[in-house]
Order: sequence, then structure tokens, then C-alpha cells
Amino acid sequence: MANAADLVVVGGGTIGGWASVFAREQGLGRVVVLERGLVGMGASSRAAGIVRAQGGRPATVALGRWTIDFYRGQPAAYGTDSGFRELGYLILAVTEDDERAGRERVAMQQAEGLDVRWLTPDEAVAAVPTLAPDGHRGGSFIATDGAIDPPRNVRAYSLAMQAAGVELRERTPFQGIRMNGSRVAGVETDAGPIATERVLLTGGPTLRDVGRLVGLRIPAGAARHSVAVLEPHPAFAVERMPMVFDIGAGLYWRLEEGGLLFGWSDPDEQPGEARMIDWDAFERWRERLAGFVPLTRDLGVRKVWCATIDYTPDHLPILGPAITTDGQRLDGVTIASAGGHGMMWGPAVSKVAADLAVRGATALIDVSDLGLDRFDAEGRSRLAPDPIALPFPVSAD
Ligand SMILES: Cc1cc2nc3c(=O)[nH]c(=O)nc-3n(C[C@H](O)[C@H](O)[C@H](O)COP(=O)(O)OP(=O)(O)OC[C@H]3O[C@@H](n4cnc5c(N)ncnc54)[C@H](O)[C@@H]3O)c2cc1C
Repeated sequence: MANAADLVVVGGGTIGGWASVFAREQGLGRVVVLERGLVGMGASSRAAGIVRAQGGRPATVALGRWTIDFYRGQPAAYGTDSGFRELGYLILAVTEDDERAGRERVAMQQAEGLDVRWLTPDEAVAAVPTLAPDGHRGGSFIATDGAIDPPRNVRAYSLAMQAAGVELRERTPFQGIRMNGSRVAGVETDAGPIATERVLLTGGPTLRDVGRLVGLRIPAGAARHSVAVLEPHPAFAVERMPMVFDIGAGLYWRLEEGGLLFGWSDPDEQPGEARMIDWDAFERWRERLAGFVPLTRDLGVRKVWCATIDYTPDHLPILGPAITTDGQRLDGVTIASAGGHGMMWGPAVSKVAADLAVRGATALIDVSDLGLDRFDAEGRSRLAPDPIALPFPVSAD
């Protein structure tokens, strides 16, 4: 094969994009990113941008913290940024069970060194002045969570890829791999093969299909997720106001251009590609939002979109070697999915993925549990799900 690379990354979303930059920083010579369409055209440009270190398990706290530090350090490291804004984040408890689980979570997060605390309902309203005083039991709060601007993040990793000398091939679908014994020897593309001994497979909501191209069964799902932005109001024309998550229902909101952005996932949603806005659901979620933020009731709607979000059955990332359904390891092939949390964990997931692809190990988190081998033949995980997540479908099928 005339064409050769030290690493081929499949997918030009935030995971593949940042991972390619980190791989170059680790000294790899030629890094090629294959993107079947245009960079960022998957989930990464359509996200709501919520970024939190308030994870439900020590590993996800670590991924969130590393990512926030990364976003903060971007101007110095890359001369650009993903638009990270520190806003604070209140994760509301509505039921007694929410409160008990929330307080236990805070204890775990504090033990991990996070400066998070529990706010009573009055303290919650003092922190978020537009929040109704009733209908909740307060919640967990941290001042240092925030949001990025997802299209700006696509721009940031594109510029970083260019500066790092990553070779981006847009409109070039990955079609499969060539093996030499148990080790990968190259990839197939519609523009011809590329010889390589390292391949990183990403794909976000399409990772399952990418896996099928090499004979893997990756239990990564895809579902509709919806976001709306309400018109500006003087109450939102402030420098900072904490984001809020109604965790039991899966509704969140944050400041956006002087108005309010809110997003929701329907717990009864069937897995599959998002095709259209569900306007009935929009009205229901808007009504629920107005219960928490009464002044939104009379606000006009500026924009609404739905897009396909990635998820995993246990809401955790998939990071590890490629293992086929019959237990065969494809040496040199690594899998990376942020499990629907690519804004809040993306750079950390990408760093781990680059570490695994280049050196076979990472110091960022313990990944021994996070590989494909945690799923059974039906795609069920043997790990308890991360308790802080959107209400994704329970199965990735
Ligand atoms: C509406 C919405 C709101 C969201 N809000 C948030 C949020 O607030 N916070 C948060 O943390 N996360 C959020 N997410 C999730 C987040 O956007 C994703 O987890 C993240 O973007 C996944 O990144 P990725 O690189 O894995 O996938 P993608 O960005 O989807 O990139 C995968 C790429 O692979 C390419 N590809 C697929 N097949 C091939 C092939 N055969 N050959 C070459 N290329 C291929 C695709 O074209 C695509 O560009 C949201 C997602 C959606 C849809």
C-alpha cells in the first residue's frame, strides 16, 4: 500500500478530532482522520454544550474535571478555545429518593475532592433567582461547572488538528480493516487502502455501524435528543446564572444569548436516528420548565432542533481494545465512545483513547472496566449505570 499512517482515526467528531491532536502530541508521525462527511457533522456540532464534573461515579468525576481543566487551558495551549463559560450547576432533587441519592452523590464527589455541596430549596433560589421556590427539594451545586459552544469546539479542534499536522480526509468513508494475523495492517476507504498498525474507531451515534464494518458488536445506541432556545429576557441578561438539571425527568436549562436554552430526552423514546421535532413533547417539556422557571411561560421560541445522540446502556464511556463477539482481540484497534457525554467528557475520553491507541495504557483513569468486554451477548453491561444521565433507552438495540 503506497499510502501509510502511524494511526488512522475513524470519525471527525470531537472524540476523533481531539484524539488525533493528542496522538500527534505523543510523537506519532503521520495521523490520518477519515470523516465520511464533513468534520463535526455528527452529534458534536449539535450538542447543548453542558459540561459538568458532577459525575455519578469517581471515574466520571475524573473525566469531567480533566475536561474542564482542558477547556480552561485551551487559549494557552492552542491559541483558541471551545467557548467554555463557568456558570455553576444545580442538580435538582424533586422526590425524597432524588434527595437521598443526591446527598450520597455529594458525599462521594466531596471524597473525590470536588467542591460540591447540597443547597436547601431557599439556598437554591438564592443561587438561581429565576427558580420557583417550590416543586423541588434543593439540590447539589458546584460553582465551577459550565458550558461550551459546540460549533466553536468543532472549530477549536479543527484548528488544533491543522496546527498539529493531522491529515484530515473529509468525504472519505472508512470501509473496513486489513489484518496481518491478529494485528491490524491497514484500513480500506473508498479512496483506496492506507497501511497502518493502529486504528481508533469513533462514530458517536453511528459507532455501532462503524463496529460492524470490522465484525464488532458495539452496544452503542442512538436516539433523538431535543433542544430549544427561548427569546431573550432581562432576567437572563446576566453574566452568569447556574445551569439547572431536573435529573429525575431529564430536563436541563442554561443561559443562551440572553435567553434560556433547554433540552430534554424522552424516557419512552424508541432508539433510532432523530428525524423530526416532536412538537407535542416540546409543549409538555416547555410546560414542565415553566413550573420551575415561571417567567418562561410567556416567552417566545427562538429555535428548536433535534439531533441524534449517542448513548451506552450503562451511560459510561466505551474505551478499550476491539474484541469480536467470539472473544478475538483485533490488536492495534481501539474503540472510543463518550456515551452521550462528549461535551463534558470528550477531551478526557479522547486523551484516554489516544493513550490507549499509542501506548496501550493510560494514567488518566482506570479503564480496566470500561472496555467492550463488560457487555454480554445481549449488550447488557455488568456495571451499575452512572446515576447522572439523561433517560436514555435501556437497551442499545
Ligand atoms: C442534541 C444533542 C445535545 C447534546 N448535548 C450534550 C451536552 O449538553 N453535553 C454533553 O456532554 N454531550 C451532549 N451531547 C452528546 C455529544 O454531542 C456527543 O457525545 C459527542 O458529540 C460525540 O462525539 P463523537 O465524536 O463520538 O461523535 P460525532 O460527533 O457524531 O462524530 C462521529 C463522526 O464519525 C463519522 N463517521 C461515521 N461513520 C463513518 C465512517 N464509516 N467513516 C468515516 N467517518 C464516519 C460521522 O460522520 C461523524 O462525523 C448532545 C448530543 C445531541 C445530539
